[in-house]
Amino acid sequence: MEQVRCPICNAAMPGNRKDYPDYPFCSRRCRMVDLGRWLGEDYRVGGGNPDDRSTPADADDSR
Ligand SMILES: [Zn+2]
Repeated sequence: MEQVRCPICNAAMPGNRKDYPDYPFCSRRCRMVDLGRWLGEDYRVGGGNPDDRSTPADADDSR
């Protein structure tokens, strides 16, 4: 029997995957954590992403 674990918090997820609306994550919170990793460039897909440069709070227009 396959033991499924949440990739974020590594919690065991017994039962059917249909019991988890946020599969493969154990909860919505873990799904958000994963999403944050994507947005935070923790993950890199390695493709040509034109939106590659993220300059947060770059409001230094004091020319
Ligand atoms: Zn989790």
